[in-house]
Amino acid sequence: MEIIAGIPVRKTIHSRLPEVDFNKLEFGKYIADHMLVCDYAAGEWKQPQIMPYADLSISPSALALHYGQTVFEGMKAFRMHDGRINIFRMEKHYDRFVRSLQRMCMAVPPKDIFMDGLTQLISLDEAWVPGQQGNALYLRPFVFASEARFGVKVSDEYRFIIFTGPVPALYADPIKVKVETKYIRAARGGTGFAKCGGNYGASFLPTQNARQAGYDQVLWTDAKENKFIEESGMMNVMFVINNTLVTAPLSDSILDGVTRDSLLTLANDLGYNTEERAIAITELEQAFTSGTITEAFGAGTAAVVAPIKTININGIDFMLPKYDEHNLMFNLKNKLEQIRLGIDADVHGWNYII
Ligand SMILES: *Cc1c(COP(=O)(O)O)cnc(C)c1O
Repeated sequence: MEIIAGIPVRKTIHSRLPEVDFNKLEFGKYIADHMLVCDYAAGEWKQPQIMPYADLSISPSALALHYGQTVFEGMKAFRMHDGRINIFRMEKHYDRFVRSLQRMCMAVPPKDIFMDGLTQLISLDEAWVPGQQGNALYLRPFVFASEARFGVKVSDEYRFIIFTGPVPALYADPIKVKVETKYIRAARGGTGFAKCGGNYGASFLPTQNARQAGYDQVLWTDAKENKFIEESGMMNVMFVINNTLVTAPLSDSILDGVTRDSLLTLANDLGYNTEERAIAITELEQAFTSGTITEAFGAGTAAVVAPIKTININGIDFMLPKYDEHNLMFNLKNKLEQIRLGIDADVHGWNYII
């Protein structure tokens, strides 16, 4: 055991790095050698520790397993063009983590444990940060209710863990999506803005139904009237209509995506018109009929942009025009990547270089 920057570290004696083929990464397949673990009990966070990634021992009555007090983040660290490592928009992810945890009535890991923990963990597993462009080390901080007790209650004990894993650049082939009007993802007053486990569990059935009908994802609509577009699967959704980048405004039923925010900011920087406003399904139909919609895409950390080629509305497939590298979405994606790599100036202070 050694102590690095105040965190006790127990290193693995058997690195799994040689088992990884960095030319054939798959999303979610490989996990780096170490994880950070920090427990909360009796009203306080204990000493965080870095240890070899391994299975946990938890009580079958741990509250998270029954009542869903679990919250996660999804973020990435990149190898920059000069070889240094950059954690992209760490503070914005932390702020969202806090909001998610507060909504689920959970203990919030202090910012210094989050930031120092990530920094030390990534430094230790530095060799796991891919060098090939677009690839990244995916970072998965999460907290779950660990108290062993089967009565319904707010947990008094939590475990905060961070593990990481190398992931490929997802060059997503354009996908087909179906506007969902039977099921909903998030309602006003609910937990849609929080990255809590239950939101994902509840989305699987409608997504599976859409898959069986020949679509890759659902386009979620508002819970009240099913009239307005909210998100695309587990991504925010954006459209280019009349040469304007349009996306739904933030609300308690929209996840405040870091990618969404980054793309809107870059679009404004580059002089494009942007609008955050309600997008009615009927507006989309009209935009297809009049030919004013030119792009549709999901926005999220995994792929940055996921181009959409088909939108099914009430049983009718509407087709987007073919995409090429001149599309707005790819301009924004390139700009974002240039900043993350340290090639273009990081004027907004998004890079946290370790
Ligand atoms: C995580 C997530 C997003 C995208 O957020 P990013 O910070 O851009 O990765 C969008 N919608 C939902 C429902 C999500 O869970």
